[in-house]
Amino acid sequence: MDTPPTLPSGPTDHPTLEQIAEREKKFLLQTYNRYPVALARGKGVFLWDIEGKRYLDFVSGLGVNALGHAHPRIVKTIRDQAAKLLHVSNLYYHQYQGPLAEKLCTLSGLNRAFFSNSGTEAIEGSIKLARLAGHRAGGEAKCRLVALEGSYHGRTFGALSLTGQDKHRKGFEPMLEGVTFVKQNDIESLRSAVNDDTCAIVLEPIFGEGGIYECTPEFLQECRSLADRHRAALIFDEIQCGLGRIGTLFAFQSFGVTPDIVAVAKPIAAGLPLGAFIAKEEFASAISAGQHGTTFGGGPLACRVALEFLAIVEEEKLLENINRVGAYLHHELEGLLGKYAAATGVRGRGFMQAIQLEIPARPIVDAGLAQGVLFNSTQDTVVRFLPPFLLEEKHVDKGIRVLKKLLGKNVKAAA
Ligand SMILES: *Cc1c(COP(=O)(O)O)cnc(C)c1O
Repeated sequence: MDTPPTLPSGPTDHPTLEQIAEREKKFLLQTYNRYPVALARGKGVFLWDIEGKRYLDFVSGLGVNALGHAHPRIVKTIRDQAAKLLHVSNLYYHQYQGPLAEKLCTLSGLNRAFFSNSGTEAIEGSIKLARLAGHRAGGEAKCRLVALEGSYHGRTFGALSLTGQDKHRKGFEPMLEGVTFVKQNDIESLRSAVNDDTCAIVLEPIFGEGGIYECTPEFLQECRSLADRHRAALIFDEIQCGLGRIGTLFAFQSFGVTPDIVAVAKPIAAGLPLGAFIAKEEFASAISAGQHGTTFGGGPLACRVALEFLAIVEEEKLLENINRVGAYLHHELEGLLGKYAAATGVRGRGFMQAIQLEIPARPIVDAGLAQGVLFNSTQDTVVRFLPPFLLEEKHVDKGIRVLKKLLGKNVKAAA
């Protein structure tokens, strides 16, 4: 077998993009279709690749780097904590998990938190809790789950079983039993899907990976009253839309409907892996010692950084920034609709928005790289914007200028 002769011997050898890609192609499970860029460092809303080329970041590592890159307070907190204590396991106390749980409970109005390592795990924990509460309230039969077509909740079997997209599920069947899917905002099919055997309704208030589609307040209210009537848990997956991204700390605060359990993750520890779900006492009380757990989840480093993240969002008034600059982004994106035939709609709010195209989005995103802007595509024809909470109007202007250039070949014929 031929081996590539040019592979460097180690990570300190300053490999080229081609060498990095070649090595990954040989040794990694081929699950990712990466954009052709290798990133080396970041500062604020900008990133630099290994050759020193600068990029404006409209992706935030899929909604994770909400404070941009190398935020001085986050860097300081990580340095300080790394020198003290990284991990203790959940066998012992440390001083940061309780305060973070208290903060999340106070901010959400819910009662108890559990910390995981990822969004998917927060969903897994949420549905395990809903099953326990369901069995307690209605016996063995009260185990069924209702989820939405087109949704995305993660890749493990529980979360995947709630993900309403065949492309993610295909080949992995059988899924978890007892899941019924309903169309987003279809109140009639929701009513026929929820009954006394339902233990939870699980939904994203705004679809993320699914293409930025919002649940209507009426639909969410109906979910709330059906969950109440049948003593089921209403679970909101706010892993992408939560913790500020749409302009309120919890997305449900924008919709006026409070869930029984909310799952969060992506931005919570400013780039470190951490997830959480927060539950009302009525559901939280269904679980007892030994019934759920994790080795890494809720460690001192991630929890302390998450406390710092929440403090920065508050002290730097980032929600105000998201609301103001998000409205500007929306307005500027709408301005493209009349001008470019390929652009047919704008969806979302705050720093979770999308422009719908009639052409494949991936080539637009690839071309954006050459122009020094990171965009993201989802669902083939959607360009999704999940910028850091620090984004300013001038950055929006730059992104829009580049988008215009990229869509330019598709200018609408003058009327
Ligand atoms: C990203 C995401 C998940 C999965 O989170 P991971 O951290 O990738 O496990 C679940 N739900 C939503 C809405 C997400 O955006």
